[in-house]
Amino acid sequence: MQFFATLITISYKNEYIFEETPRMSTYLLGWAMHDFVSESSTNQLRFSQNFRMWTRRSMDHRGSIALRQGQSIYSFLNDWLLVDNPIPKMDQIAVPDFNFHAMENWGMITYRESVVLYDDELTPTRNMLDGFTTMAHEYAHTWFGNLVTPTFWDVAWLKEGFASYFQYFAVSMVQPTWRMMDKFVVDTLQPAMLLDSTDHDRVMNGKNVGSPSSIMAVLDFVSYKKGASVIRMLSHVIGESAFRDGLRSYVKNMSYDAATPHDLYRHLQSSADNHGQLPRNMSIEGIMESWTNQPGYPLVTVARNYDMGTFTVSQERFRWNKTRDQSQSELKWWIPLTFTTETARNFSAVKPRYWLKRKCENLTAPLNISSSRWIIFNIQQTGYYRVNYDENNWQMIARYLSSRDFLKVHRANRAALIDDAFNLARAGYIDYSIAFNLSKYLVREIDHEPWVAAVNNLKFLNNVLSGTRVQRAFQEYANRLLQPRYKQLNFTDSKDEDITAKLNKELILATSCLVGSVDCLNLSESLFRNWITKPDETIPRDVKNFVYCEGIRNGGEEDWYLVMDRWLNTDLQTEQDLLLQGLGCTRESGLIKSYLELSLTDEQTVRKQQRMMIVTAILDGNVENVDHVLEFVRSNLQRIIELRGSDFLGKVISGIGQRMRTRKQTETLRAFIQGHSKQLGSTLDTARKALSAALENVKWIKKYLPSIVRYFT
Ligand SMILES: [Zn+2]
Repeated sequence: MQFFATLITISYKNEYIFEETPRMSTYLLGWAMHDFVSESSTNQLRFSQNFRMWTRRSMDHRGSIALRQGQSIYSFLNDWLLVDNPIPKMDQIAVPDFNFHAMENWGMITYRESVVLYDDELTPTRNMLDGFTTMAHEYAHTWFGNLVTPTFWDVAWLKEGFASYFQYFAVSMVQPTWRMMDKFVVDTLQPAMLLDSTDHDRVMNGKNVGSPSSIMAVLDFVSYKKGASVIRMLSHVIGESAFRDGLRSYVKNMSYDAATPHDLYRHLQSSADNHGQLPRNMSIEGIMESWTNQPGYPLVTVARNYDMGTFTVSQERFRWNKTRDQSQSELKWWIPLTFTTETARNFSAVKPRYWLKRKCENLTAPLNISSSRWIIFNIQQTGYYRVNYDENNWQMIARYLSSRDFLKVHRANRAALIDDAFNLARAGYIDYSIAFNLSKYLVREIDHEPWVAAVNNLKFLNNVLSGTRVQRAFQEYANRLLQPRYKQLNFTDSKDEDITAKLNKELILATSCLVGSVDCLNLSESLFRNWITKPDETIPRDVKNFVYCEGIRNGGEEDWYLVMDRWLNTDLQTEQDLLLQGLGCTRESGLIKSYLELSLTDEQTVRKQQRMMIVTAILDGNVENVDHVLEFVRSNLQRIIELRGSDFLGKVISGIGQRMRTRKQTETLRAFIQGHSKQLGSTLDTARKALSAALENVKWIKKYLPSIVRYFT
């Protein structure tokens, strides 16, 4: 089957007649009119000739790296699922202006240019890796979404959850040394739990979905990241072979059809039964519905009885505000329990040892270890839940991690322990001293995943403590943790570093600068100065993202306009985006104002998706920038609505609310909302939510600052 159009010219009219498509959902139809050039894959894999990347002429061959990786990933998926794509071609188009990152039109995937067009010398490793996973995500839609489509948007996780799972799984199989399934924990599962900790009522099987805005609203972290995390948990519950066979049967039997979650469960159930993987009294549907029909996720609390040699496990919904509405703590899940002990130390046993049943309050089991040895639950953080322990067990874990034996704990579990401890402290389940004590072991940590977890949590604290009397002590502590790793890394671009080493370099160096490492700031400054005077001497690609920012932050107006000029004269979008973000780091109110102006204009060189990126860059640039952005919104409200619409305005105001930290700021925001409620119109609700987010921040700081101060003084 060829999908080329036939051209018929009748008098003055050109008519293109396309081949008939397979039976499919209407949202997947796409066509393109362009004068782009194409490149075919040279891999000797499935339909190489028809596996193409289309780009603007000036971007010719910028897609080669992505195309090569992409075809291996695509072929892996096709082989793994054993169901051929009925459309024997894959046109991929790099679109300069594109609000989404990508779209999986069947046989014609579209991407933002920054997702797939790279320069080996200029594009950071992180961007390329994100690009590959985005491609894997779109390919996975061939089977999950296109061939088998969800019955409706309320169960969008049937396509987005699977695509978000396979975007890591497929790359992990093609590039085993990249350890993508460990990265899944810190890139997907932990960010999902972070967002899933508020008092929301959004569930995977969506409710009241129908209007266009409610459909857009379900394309969120619940359908994507949470969906993927719950799917990964299920794959470990029934084992990889049963999971694979069940999916093959589901895709094969449901091809060209619309599926419900029940269809998925049915196929997985019979596969799990064939493989003998589930206890007899349990069903996949029963387990899954506890995750797909309830908001949030559980906190599993482990209490040891050291005299009796037992442990008791209980569950409740994890929430930032656990005191607010007690009924929320009543939610219960089917929870697969995995654990290991200091004596056994088996971090590959991901099959559930026990189940915490939905109907049971708690579970008690014997534990044959000495009372001076730790127990760790949720092996490789395969379960979508957090774990809390009694203080004694936390201390034993912390002691073990700070010994040379810490590498015997799986890196995904080190990341999980850090993330759980800091978030338990943030929500008031444990004292901050437990999390800070646990984190001390990081002076020895060299792996990427635990550092990502640590940096996410350190960044949160660095932000909320900004301007308080304890910030300095906190930054000194963060710097002490980072120093040993910082000293092992350098600011140059080395060809023989592996991908994880490169990612780690960006992470550790950027965070060191963020918490005020003098050495880091000086080196960044000199790299930036050098590049300002000699534009040909580019900054190593994996340090650029913060070097541009530090340079702009400490530089003057002249530097800012020069960098702006370089942006406007740059054709490669990954580079444009980096320069754009750097420009947001200015502290000059005049420059911030000009930059915000640029986000409103129709300037051709600013791509549509870059307008919101400008606002975010300013808000992330410096904590105090939020005041300038609010002032700009206040004095340009009508223009913003007219030029960019209420959706844009809503995003800006939400961004403002999230970043406010002081009572004074919330008063300004409140006054603005009250004074402009009519003009805000459909954005009023978003604005009120932004205000309540800001008030939560203020309340949080007031409540938790004393315990952080206590620890550092
Ligand atoms: Zn998708």
